[in-house]
Amino acid sequence: MVKTAIFPGSFDPITLGHVNIVERALPLFDKIILAVGLNADKKYLFPLSKRVQWLENTFEKYPKIEVLKYDGLTIEFAKECNANFLLRGLRNPADFEFEKAIAQANRELEPQLDTVFFLTSAKLSFISSSLVRDVIINNGDYSKFVPEEVRIK
Ligand code: ADP
Repeated sequence: MVKTAIFPGSFDPITLGHVNIVERALPLFDKIILAVGLNADKKYLFPLSKRVQWLENTFEKYPKIEVLKYDGLTIEFAKECNANFLLRGLRNPADFEFEKAIAQANRELEPQLDTVFFLTSAKLSFISSSLVRDVIINNGDYSKFVPEEVRIK
């Protein structure tokens, strides 16, 4: 069986927390699809093209990784990609509660698709894309929180 995982997210922008989860998941899967969501109700700071480009540049050296855009239900997109696992990161109890409900709902809707969670590394657990956006909007130094490939301007 080819083991394909899909890591869905907004990646607005990608952070070192995301990179950590993806790199640790790499040995478990044959392929990881970074699925960049397009949700009409969400307000993004960065356009889809930029979010995708940063992901592609960051993971260029890993042939197992593919970056794709999607809209609609994650489980439907996972099916289209023949993915058998959904990958998510957990930083704290709030993430756990939120992710648990989504994972259980997804499993009810699509029993073939299982969610795999990685606990964030302690040093990175405070990083979120929303924190990074706040720093960027207020002209702070965001470079400690994101991979080198994320350069604004
Ligand atoms: P979403 O809009 O779906 O929350 P994000 O891009 O914010 O998209 O997050 C995607 C996934 O990455 C989620 O599972 C989230 O828990 C995880 N994640 C985000 N930041 C970190 C971090 N610092 N450490 C570990 N996982 C993280």
